[in-house]
Parts: sequence; structure tokens; C-alpha cells
Amino acid sequence: MSDTVSTVALDRWIRSFALLVAENKDELTDLDAAIGDGDHGANMDRGMRAVVAALDSTTPTTASAMFNKVGMTLVSTVGGASGPLFGTFVLRVGASFGDTAEVSLAQLAAGLRAGLDGIVARGKAEAGDKTMYDALAPAVNALEAAASAGMEKAEALEAALTAAESGRDATTPMLALKGRASYLGERSIGHQDPGATTVALLIAAATRAPL
Ligand code: ADP
Ligand code: MG
Repeated sequence: MSDTVSTVALDRWIRSFALLVAENKDELTDLDAAIGDGDHGANMDRGMRAVVAALDSTTPTTASAMFNKVGMTLVSTVGGASGPLFGTFVLRVGASFGDTAEVSLAQLAAGLRAGLDGIVARGKAEAGDKTMYDALAPAVNALEAAASAGMEKAEALEAALTAAESGRDATTPMLALKGRASYLGERSIGHQDPGATTVALLIAAATRAPL
């Protein structure tokens, strides 16, 4: 397997994520019903269905054009907090990739870092606030470390997935300090964060695609 990621592989990743969101829609909804308003599964599923339809109508040939299309579609179809946050994430990843048909593992890691920074710029989440940040930041750290250690792509993505899943699991005992869940105060403790759960699906999709 080559160590670069082609636009075709990025397209596979996005479609694989859409599939995982559809499969886990009810779980995401249940998690959001416990500490939010119960719309997260439906929000993400609607958005990712629109993304797949957009990719079916024309397949962008560069990494930046593809992520730009996905991000614009998410921003315009997903409501709530997560629409603008995931949309910004994807748009920043795309802007970081630039006009190229394939990206290296290091560029992928740098792209995800830029996306994470976009989420923080928009939502001001910090580590431990019980948000999507708590799964994404460890995944990005793991991918950067793997890329700079010269790890092979599949192994690097597995490391990122392990980090995302531990980050997701670590949200359960946290007290929510951002978003709707923060309105619950102490009652947010003991529930897994829906956005962090979606992030783990995003990284799982990258290992499954495979990239
Ligand atoms: P809403 O809360 O508006 O109904 P969703 O249910 O789609 O939106 O998404 C909720 C998820 O959004 C949370 O589980 C959390 O991970 C994420 N989130 C909320 N606020 C923020 C924020 N300020 N920064 C990062 N992520 C956030
Ligand atoms: Mg919600």
C-alpha cells in the first residue's frame, strides 16, 4: 500500500464515514437525548447523506476541492452546534491540503491539526470540556507522532483510532463545560459525549476505507 492518500481514497473515507454515521444514527441520537436535545444522529446523518449525494453528482479531483465541497455541504445541511463545527473542521482540512491529487501522511496529520484549530477558534473548547475536541485532539496528536516517527499509514491510522476511542471514552466521567450539555451541570457526568462519539466514527472510517 502506498504511503500517500489519493483523492479517490479520501472519497472512500468520506463515504465510509457516511455509512458509519447511518449505522450509528440511533446511538448518536440516544447519547444526545441524555445530555442534549436528541438531534445529533439525525443532524449528522442528514448532512452525510447530502455529502454523498454531492460527491455522486461530481467528484472533485483535488484534495482541497473535495473537502471544500464536503465542508460547504455540511455547513448548509447540519444544524445545531455540530454543523458549523464539523463544517469548519472539514473546510480547514481542505484549505490545508491545497491543490493536490494526493497527500502524504504528514500532510494528512497537518490537515487534521488545522481542522482541530478551526473547531477551537469557533467553539473555544479546551481539553476536558466534554466535547468532540476530547476525541479529536488525541487522535491528531497520535497521527502527528506516528507521521514523524515514519510509521506506516495503516498502523498510524490505527494509532489515531485507539487515541480517538480512548478520548471518546474519557468524556463519560467529565462535567460538560461547553455546548448544550453544559446546561445540565453535574447531571452531564456519566454520559458519553455524542460529538466525541462521531469523531471516533470519523477516524474508524479512515481505517476501514482504507485510506
Ligand atoms: P446541538 O448541541 O446544537 O444540538 P449537536 O447535538 O449536533 O448540536 O452536537 C452536539 C455536540 O457538539 C456535542 O456532543 C459536542 O461534542 C459538540 N459541541 C458542542 N459545543 C461545542 C464547542 N463549543 N466546541 C466543540 N464541540 C462542541
Ligand atoms: Mg443536539
